[in-house]
Amino acid sequence: MSAQGSPLSSWPPTLSDAQLASITLLATTYALSHGLVYLPVETVQPPAPISTIHAPLALFPSPFPRRLFQLAQRLQNTYNVLYARVATDDDFLDRVMGAVEGAGRVDEFTGQLWRRWQKVRDEGIVQPLHLGLFRSDYMLHSPGNGEPTSLKQVEFNTISSSFGTLSERSADLHRYLRKSTGYFGVSPYLTADNFPPNRTTAGLAEGLSEAHKAYGVPGACILFVVQDGERNVFDQRWLEYELLETHSIHVVRQSLTQLGQTAQVDPTTRVLRVASSSGPPVEISTVYFRAGYTPTDYPTAAQYDTRYALERSRAIQCPSIALQLAGGKKVQEVLTHPGVLEGFLCDVARWGEQALPQAAADELRASWMEMWGLDEDVDALGSGGAVQREGSGVRRARERAGALVLKPQREGGGNNVYKEAIPPFLDSLAVEERAAWIAMELIAVPEGMGSYLVRAGGGTDGAVRADVVSEVGIFGWALFGGADRAVREKEVGWLVRTKGKDSNEGGVAAGFSVLDSILLV
Ligand code: ADP
Ligand code: MG
Ligand code: MG
Repeated sequence: MSAQGSPLSSWPPTLSDAQLASITLLATTYALSHGLVYLPVETVQPPAPISTIHAPLALFPSPFPRRLFQLAQRLQNTYNVLYARVATDDDFLDRVMGAVEGAGRVDEFTGQLWRRWQKVRDEGIVQPLHLGLFRSDYMLHSPGNGEPTSLKQVEFNTISSSFGTLSERSADLHRYLRKSTGYFGVSPYLTADNFPPNRTTAGLAEGLSEAHKAYGVPGACILFVVQDGERNVFDQRWLEYELLETHSIHVVRQSLTQLGQTAQVDPTTRVLRVASSSGPPVEISTVYFRAGYTPTDYPTAAQYDTRYALERSRAIQCPSIALQLAGGKKVQEVLTHPGVLEGFLCDVARWGEQALPQAAADELRASWMEMWGLDEDVDALGSGGAVQREGSGVRRARERAGALVLKPQREGGGNNVYKEAIPPFLDSLAVEERAAWIAMELIAVPEGMGSYLVRAGGGTDGAVRADVVSEVGIFGWALFGGADRAVREKEVGWLVRTKGKDSNEGGVAAGFSVLDSILLV
């Protein structure tokens, strides 16, 4: 198929106002009837929800090259193994966190978690297993210099990877719109074969249930640690319903603040029990964090102490503090240093028969943009010295500011510094804080992509046509940490978030982007 007329050069097809109105009606009605929803913004939250609004959504799926989608799915298996191995390499994480935190305790949040993890290790680990529910995020990269469009990683999430179950419903929505209207015959690409399946809910719940089984007490519960005032509760509840329906596992939902009152760790057995309002304390097999990734989840020392209490218990943590730290931006950058990735994946002396082929590492490396640390000491971590040759990380960041994003050790969106904002930001950044930041080349997203977007709750706007950028996430789980060093893992589904082109950040919950799905082309 030539680029001319391909959905990759121009999208979406044009709809008449009447067609658009009719599709919007079908879409929001479907979303509301299938749980593709959020809690509404309430000034006073009722004790139990009384209404919902539909999630922000796109009316058409976004075109994505089939070969790059398959590549992203394949890479997930490698990433699952990689991050399992990173999270169980204490020396490596201590080295990276030591550099981030530095002598001056520059990143207080990371330091708080790291210190508690060290304390747990000093006391002796009673639960070697870790569970990861991961999401690796990518964008299409079209530098426009004759290079073919490629797949580039934005980041790898190891904590609170959200929108798995709602993205399944978003994919179902687009499949329904196609089936119900044929999208009015406006594009020959809107055929069933081009709508890939997305069974993320079953896949993520399977990861949780595997951890639960490994814990070995069938009557135990899984604890969901959630934020107070969370509006994205249905994305979490769908996992809860799947655990009950398919695996007969009960879930307890509490915030870190509540758990400060309700969680007890037996001093001898380290069994974690949580009291709930509806009955006696229950034993917890697995702790699944949908909170705890941002400093605001720890308003006082008590929440950090609760995290520590959970971590030192016998319950399997999803993620452990180690795995959360492994998902930091600084680790992502250090992995790009020469030989580091290869050491984790392919080193036969280290991994024996579990070593992966060099090709797996090569394929993964090819999905990375260039990254470096803002601190000049980045070479101390064992890189080949590219940064040193070209001068300090900061100088290079100033020189290339227009093509860069700077990222701190934070999750959840809204933390990055882009392009022309970089030089003044660097002027204001204390020298000792540089260690907590990485610079990353900006991915050059393809031109010509548009979509019809419907904001959360719709309002009176209906659908709005916008030039857009899409970010694809691939979900996976990994259960690891046993003495045999085996990693049980699976790739389990995907997510597409689409945002207006002029918005730098892409958080759905933050209101900048919509839930979308993939049209394979
Ligand atoms: P967070 O953990 O806060 O989600 P991300 O690394 O995902 O941090 O950055 C947030 C958003 O910034 C991404 O969703 C994406 O829209 C944008 N972004 C991040 N890195 C890049 C990059 N290298 N090129 C283009 N956009 C990026
Ligand atoms: Mg993130
Ligand atoms: Mg992100």
